[in-house]
Amino acid sequence: MRIARFVTDSDPAYGVVTGEPGEETISQLVGDPFYQGIQETGQSHKLEDVRLVAPIIPRSKLIGVGKNYADHAKEMGGEPPASPLLFLMPNTAVVGPNEPVSLPSFSEEVSYEAELAVVIGRICKDVPLERVNEVIFGYTVANDLTARDAQRTDNQWARAKGFDGSAPLGPWIETELDPEGLRITGTHNGELVQDGNTSQMIFGVPELITYISQALTLLPGDVILTGTPAGVGLLSDGDTFEAEVEGIGVLRNTFRA
Ligand code: ZN
Repeated sequence: MRIARFVTDSDPAYGVVTGEPGEETISQLVGDPFYQGIQETGQSHKLEDVRLVAPIIPRSKLIGVGKNYADHAKEMGGEPPASPLLFLMPNTAVVGPNEPVSLPSFSEEVSYEAELAVVIGRICKDVPLERVNEVIFGYTVANDLTARDAQRTDNQWARAKGFDGSAPLGPWIETELDPEGLRITGTHNGELVQDGNTSQMIFGVPELITYISQALTLLPGDVILTGTPAGVGLLSDGDTFEAEVEGIGVLRNTFRA
């Protein structure tokens, strides 16, 4: 099931997206599916008649995982980490699909990173490997924007990874997906620049959730960005970037100085 958030002329609502590409409809849900389950209002729209917004604004946190693909660790000039390298982002970093992102004034080097994102469905702590599926609500696509210059100069990555607009998410949350063996691509101004597979992750989704939940209680709506394959590069004013994960969809954003 594909769960999106959208606006027409009123406040954002959740909906279930069905149909083939270009002919999708969205059926509005009652309230918040994270807390109220899937209950349709009976109202539906053509997808092209609504504007999608970020499928989730975490109430609590986004957790990033650095250097989780060996080829990306190598292109960054480092060894793959021995255990997951975690960082936190604020919920003000989240923007939705097709939303223009303002490149931050303090950086000359903002990079794109196409990633698979995991959306947590229930409160959990110390999740054992064999129970990870019980705590996952679904998966979406992320672009983990990174100010490389601030990443080099700052010991903590709060600015480099957490600036406003640094975490585009979307287009929706796919609730039925096996995260193993999915192609993940990044297309910059129409050119394919990242082409990896989730099977190349050093730490897979179950290991990440187990590891993270040993330190942090995870809440419904928390989002984990699982790392990016090789091919990262810089964004400029007027650029577009499309992150795509097989089985989910395409997250497209434009960038302006
Ligand atoms: Zn990343």
